[in-house]
Amino acid sequence: MPCQICRAPTRVVLTKEQNISCGDYFEERRLYPEDRGALRLMECESCGFARFDDMDRWSAEEFQTRIYNADYHLCDPPFLGARPRKLAAWLASALPPQRLVDYGGGEGMMAELLRARRFDAVSFDPFYGDEAAPLGASPVVTAFEVVEHAPDQRGLFRTLMELCAPSGIIIFSTLLKPARLQGDWWYACARNGHVSLHSDESLRLLMAEFGLSFLSLSAEMHVAARDPRLLEVTATWPTIAVNDAPSAAYAAL
Ligand SMILES: [Zn+2]
Repeated sequence: MPCQICRAPTRVVLTKEQNISCGDYFEERRLYPEDRGALRLMECESCGFARFDDMDRWSAEEFQTRIYNADYHLCDPPFLGARPRKLAAWLASALPPQRLVDYGGGEGMMAELLRARRFDAVSFDPFYGDEAAPLGASPVVTAFEVVEHAPDQRGLFRTLMELCAPSGIIIFSTLLKPARLQGDWWYACARNGHVSLHSDESLRLLMAEFGLSFLSLSAEMHVAARDPRLLEVTATWPTIAVNDAPSAAYAAL
């Protein structure tokens, strides 16, 4: 399969048992002991975008039973509370209260915390049963730790752009990979639902295709807007670390 972003050839860069999770690297043990067989991570030889493309054959039911099941939170404990709290506090320190749509925000905890800080914030997560998109385009759209879960990157960014007002900004996080992966990488885990992994270059190509200017505040936090002048506001924003780094090199493979 050619690269989803730039159509260049891809190659196998890593094979990883599909039940190894990002959480394993923090706990330094297998959280899901069952061996379900390895999946190949395919990396683009040009832009560096990487995907577990075997998962393209999975049905929605398979994603629910193999990944987004009752044990999902084990592989990403901050998902349940620590991350929404950290992100809500960061957004409230960076932006004045205003309309905000949080896409892919699960049960909507971050939006709820922002409402307590006088934001007109709503959560929209079609995978958590939200059927209708919020009415009206928003000046701020957020999507934290969502990009790496989307098998269809163009579909995701089409949705984010529909939610975002023409003069709005899209704030999103996903940890960028090195252009060429050398050996294992803790963030590349099918068990977490991390199917699409961007390099700096592949993200730049995708943003350009959508006519978006973008700025990476760090290797994991990015801001995009149709008008590059709208990105200038980020100069005053405090820094944030979305993901902790695993404490030690853990040989999961
Ligand atoms: Zn590519």
